[in-house]
Amino acid sequence: MKQYCAICGCELHRGGEYATPTIQGRSHATEHHYVAERFFGRSRNRPQTQREAIFPKCPWNSEGKTVIFCYECHEELIHNPVFLPKDIEALNTLVRAKKLNEDHKTESREKIAGRIKLLHKIITAGLKQISEQASP
Ligand SMILES: [Zn+2]
Repeated sequence: MKQYCAICGCELHRGGEYATPTIQGRSHATEHHYVAERFFGRSRNRPQTQREAIFPKCPWNSEGKTVIFCYECHEELIHNPVFLPKDIEALNTLVRAKKLNEDHKTESREKIAGRIKLLHKIITAGLKQISEQASP
């Protein structure tokens, strides 16, 4: 059964060369968790390591759910969003307005949980706005 990247739509394969700078490497199938496992205190890379959960329960009811991408969309696009200085300034302003800033770290993970939820809202709002602009 053929598989396709959920973002760019390219045909995927599992024939090796993962992450090599070749067409094969760039179109290799890779699984992505919609919500990072580390947010729930787990790490697949370091299964022995139990870190403190940021979310005791998934706010989007999507814990453990995955999607398949190509290497490019997963490792280069999704994992490396571009934030320019003005973007960070605007994010800082929003974080302060929502009282998600921290003068000193405490034991609580509520603020970072709030910032993660805020960034997701920003992505959702941006997708909606750009989609509406693109429609005829
Ligand atoms: Zn892709």
